[in-house]
Amino acid sequence: MGSRHPNPRLVKIHRNYSVEDIARLFGIHKNTVRNWLKQGLAAIDDRRPILILGQELSRFLRERRQKAKKTCGPGRIYCIACRAPKVPAGKMAECMPSGRLAGNLCGICPDCDRLIYRRVNLGKIDAIRGELEITFTQPHARIGESAVPSVNCDSSQKAQAHENA
Ligand SMILES: [Zn+2]
Repeated sequence: MGSRHPNPRLVKIHRNYSVEDIARLFGIHKNTVRNWLKQGLAAIDDRRPILILGQELSRFLRERRQKAKKTCGPGRIYCIACRAPKVPAGKMAECMPSGRLAGNLCGICPDCDRLIYRRVNLGKIDAIRGELEITFTQPHARIGESAVPSVNCDSSQKAQAHENA
């Protein structure tokens, strides 16, 4: 089956789990479980095979779910300054494609007026959209609006000057 958000309820708190057990329980790859161990899932001790207490597994998955909710709520973009997910001002966001299936969602934080960004998978945009009105723009379509000089441009001009000299 395989789920990106394994259900903590499947875990029996008073059982010990090996990496293989956990992979089987959720239908996920063993490497995913090994990643969890790197991300803070605690093993009982350092001995092999690695064993994880059901209670610890359950705690880890619950926390992970909450974090996912915090950052991935539909229609929200995380504001680094406010340290919280925000619905952008006017419920409006711009989406600039940055790859074939990737893009950057950009809005304005309603509380601090900063630009806030969220990297998105364009294939999942409908799940991410929430109540937002999203305008899709082409990359670089906004060039010319900003007065910030491009560093790359300067250095290439210098390089050319050297070549000409
Ligand atoms: Zn903010």
